[in-house]
Amino acid sequence: MPDGKQAGVRCIQLSEDGRCKVFGLPSRPDICNRLTPNEEMCGTTDQHAYDYLAALEKATQP
Ligand code: SF4
Repeated sequence: MPDGKQAGVRCIQLSEDGRCKVFGLPSRPDICNRLTPNEEMCGTTDQHAYDYLAALEKATQP
């Protein structure tokens, strides 16, 4: 995504089963490499993670 990924837009590198297709490759964005997943962020369900991200996006919007 040469112009960056907008909030709420699915990354083109995300596979249908929710895995990063460029994990471990040099082309993976540095921000993705620096993000350390944790239980607070990920929870135990996809919905928890989506809700957490939505709250972050809302809290950091200009
Ligand atoms: S880790 Fe980064 S590159 Fe991989 S799917 Fe998620 S946003 Fe895309």
